[in-house]
Amino acid sequence: MVNLDRSAVERRVGVLALQGASAPHLAMLRSLGIEAIPVRRREELDSLTHLVLPGGESTTLRHLLDLFDLAGTIIARAASGELSIFGTCAGAILLGQDDGERPPRLGLLEAQLERNAYGTQVDSFSRSIELRLAPDAAPISFPAVFIRAPRFVEASFGREVEVLARDQGIPVLVRQGNLLAATFHPELSGDPRIHAWFLEMWLARRDRPAPAAI
Ligand code: GLN
Repeated sequence: MVNLDRSAVERRVGVLALQGASAPHLAMLRSLGIEAIPVRRREELDSLTHLVLPGGESTTLRHLLDLFDLAGTIIARAASGELSIFGTCAGAILLGQDDGERPPRLGLLEAQLERNAYGTQVDSFSRSIELRLAPDAAPISFPAVFIRAPRFVEASFGREVEVLARDQGIPVLVRQGNLLAATFHPELSGDPRIHAWFLEMWLARRDRPAPAAI
């Protein structure tokens, strides 16, 4: 049973819904009692405290973010620390550093990601991983689904990047202040604990430095 802290200011949660797997994120958030909204327009970003960038196709998503004029607002609100972002798979790729493709990635997370690093769609897999959501927390076992997943390049990590989980030694869940990024799909696991934890992140936000403005 997952209990969310419902004190303090109300969360306003959105899931980017331009392309990719927004529906399972919305369903998982609803299972936690959160009325998350699908986000397609810039005005919908203005009041959000939390945004999920789902899996999908990262180049297409990045083009659509520009086409719908959302990228600048996402970058500005996240860099100021007002908005917590959870990027999963393609969403994690978007959060990371640019690799020279056009249009560039958002560059909020100080980490490089290599796309399709495990192979093609048929090389997708599911494996249990151990994760620790805080340095002093007991590790929990979590069913992780990897679909044409990217891989974090650990050597590229900035100082604020914390590794919360690894799979066979490779980081698969990281946090940098108000940003959380997974190379797997927690929304497909049936286990809402990472989503619940993401929704708590902002409560501790003041303790953590926001990423530097870019
Ligand atoms: N392979 C996709 C990409 O590079 C990501 C896959 C996913 O989100 N499941 O954009």
